[in-house]
Amino acid sequence: MSYIDENFQLVQENIKKACEKVQRSPDVQIVAVTKYVSLETTRLALAAGIQHLGESKSQDAIAKWKALGDQAVWHFIGHLQTNKVRDIIGKFTYVHSLDRYSLAAELSKRGQQIQAVTRCFVQVNISGEESKHGIKPGDAASFIREINHMPAIELVGLMTMAPYVSDAEETRWIFRSLRELRDELRQEFPQIPLTHLSMGMSNDYQVAVEEGATFIRLGSTLVGDERN
Ligand SMILES: *Cc1c(COP(=O)(O)O)cnc(C)c1O
Repeated sequence: MSYIDENFQLVQENIKKACEKVQRSPDVQIVAVTKYVSLETTRLALAAGIQHLGESKSQDAIAKWKALGDQAVWHFIGHLQTNKVRDIIGKFTYVHSLDRYSLAAELSKRGQQIQAVTRCFVQVNISGEESKHGIKPGDAASFIREINHMPAIELVGLMTMAPYVSDAEETRWIFRSLRELRDELRQEFPQIPLTHLSMGMSNDYQVAVEEGATFIRLGSTLVGDERN
């Protein structure tokens, strides 16, 4: 047993409570974000029963994938440079940060070459902060229309990042807006599932779950932060 087992337990209890509070289904996939921890700690996460791992820098992502490969389901959650797609294609089942046409085209082209379909979240910049990646909410429909036909991409939903604030309640509107946008897009594109909402991090995941998150990305509160 490690501290990660305890954290994992606590996170699962908090998710359960948040779901009960709003009477929603408890289907929430936890993605352990291991970008701030070592390979050894990442192994502890797997030993605790965590199966989904998220990384945000391609170099670190590949190093961890090489060591642990098929022991986990891999999520690329950070800004993805187009020229790094070839390194992660076929290895990372999910990309949470699809935010431009050129990236979609490259994912689809490389995916077709090796017959790998990447499950993608369209990253939306709800908060409007300039420092955040993601397309504008108003551009989401036209973006989806542009990339929808690409063969090796499966659009599974929307992703957003909220700014860090000490009171997570202040970010509730961001999660709610992403859900409402997803619901609108579903009406417009009934043939695309857009089932999932990737939202919520260590600081605000309970609020995100109350607003309908189906994937939460947890770093520090689950596996820790070993930067000094
Ligand atoms: C780092 C990161 C996380 C996890 O951050 P914590 O606050 O440590 O939970 C989640 N999502 C993205 C996109 C990240 O870059």
